Amino acid sequence: MTLPAAPLEAHLKPRCEAGCEPGRDCSFCPRLAKFRESNRAKYPEWFNAPVPSFGPADAELLIVGLAPGLKGANRTGRPFTGDYAGILLYETLLRFGLATGTYAERPDDGLTLTECRITNTVRCVPPENKPLPDEAAACRPFLSQCISEMPRLKAILALGRIAFDGTLRASGLKASRYKFVHGEAVDIGEGRKLFGCYHCSRYNTNTGRLTPAMFHRVFGDITAYLGRGAEHA
Ligand code: URA
Repeated sequence: MTLPAAPLEAHLKPRCEAGCEPGRDCSFCPRLAKFRESNRAKYPEWFNAPVPSFGPADAELLIVGLAPGLKGANRTGRPFTGDYAGILLYETLLRFGLATGTYAERPDDGLTLTECRITNTVRCVPPENKPLPDEAAACRPFLSQCISEMPRLKAILALGRIAFDGTLRASGLKASRYKFVHGEAVDIGEGRKLFGCYHCSRYNTNTGRLTPAMFHRVFGDITAYLGRGAEHA
């Protein structure tokens, strides 16, 4: 007798019990696992594994990116670290008092996040920086788990529409009921707000779709919402 296929979440949930992090050899996404193997062969000294969340689980703010960059987070093992997008992100976190120390594009630079945690919608580096919808869905239990293990969480910043929709779904909400608008926030229940912001990617910053001033404004809104006062710089 063939058993009916269980929903994806039912397959994945038990494997998340050890925490919200996928194992180094996670095989949920065959295309990403294959890409990882080829990167391990080409660049054996790199991290080349699902990149874990960075920052304390008791933070009030969670930042959700898209996926690790090949030569950035996939190389260093820390979200946005070594990626072009990390330059503006970490500079902004330091400016707004959400990080202390110095960002030196390496995981041992001593940078510490304060009231802030960073994760990705998809934990593995995708070819050409483009995760597929099925890959975001397969990785979603890790995002759900990451959110649910943050008891003081009040604000989530989604960098880009894929992160925005993924966060809604990971929170058990229907993405079609909400609209991603840069600079606007929506209520997602439990006293939490989800802020939408264009991704701080090289493409968006080079084309002027996202300027540092626009990015800083979003963080100004978030820190005001969290009652943390203005930027420190
Ligand atoms: N690096 C990450 O870790 N996430 C992104 O979304 C982009 C670069």
